[in-house]
Amino acid sequence: MRKPVIAGNWKLYKTKDEALALIEELAPLVAGVDSVEVVVAPVFTVLPSLPAALAGTSISLAAQDVFWEEEGAFTGEVSPRMLLDAGASHVIIGHSERRQYFGETDQTVNKKIKAALKGALVPIFCIGETLDAREAGETFKVLERQVQGGLEGLTETQFAPVIIAYEPVWAIGTGKVATDEQAQEAHAFVRGVVTKMFGKTAADKVRILYGGSVKPDNVKGLMSCTDIDGALVGGASLKGASFASIVRFG
Ligand code: PEP
Repeated sequence: MRKPVIAGNWKLYKTKDEALALIEELAPLVAGVDSVEVVVAPVFTVLPSLPAALAGTSISLAAQDVFWEEEGAFTGEVSPRMLLDAGASHVIIGHSERRQYFGETDQTVNKKIKAALKGALVPIFCIGETLDAREAGETFKVLERQVQGGLEGLTETQFAPVIIAYEPVWAIGTGKVATDEQAQEAHAFVRGVVTKMFGKTAADKVRILYGGSVKPDNVKGLMSCTDIDGALVGGASLKGASFASIVRFG
């Protein structure tokens, strides 16, 4: 059985004090939920402040990006070793906002995934088609390209810790959630691509999260789909009550 993951992507929100207040609100609301892995992803500067607040909870800490070199003359970047040092165990890679605004490509995503794995971080690898691609009937083509490109060169063993997040770009922050059927169809397709690349055992094990306007009132339907193993949540992760309700599947 695949243990579900509910991850909150706080994007460019929450200073240190705001983040600590959110954890204080969230932690008691999700205490005792052992059947779900809960992850929160604050901005880089907040990471080192959270491990003490998360001690005694089962909430894990993720960064929102990583660079592929360990150290060197790369102004503004943060390496896997530095994220570990700051207390992160997971890292979001290839979020559509990074692809759209910061020039991420399948190649840079691939380098980051490899570096994260080498540095013992769990990558939350994001993929998803734009509205144009969906309307042009190219959803599967885009997803196949992103999955193959992002995971190129990994062995089945190296791939094992990776979590995939399918996030249709047209559903992120728009309030337009994919229907359960649209999401399930894409997830099944992605699992099929993983089967081709790494075999059935790996594909049966990989957690594929859905992301895109997940809210307390739509999480249950999504989570009832065979190939949906959790959610990557943006807006609704910024409040303890709504995120906790998603962790409890509504
Ligand atoms: C996201 O940031 O990954 C996301 C899915 O955002 P939202 O839930 O706000 O659509």
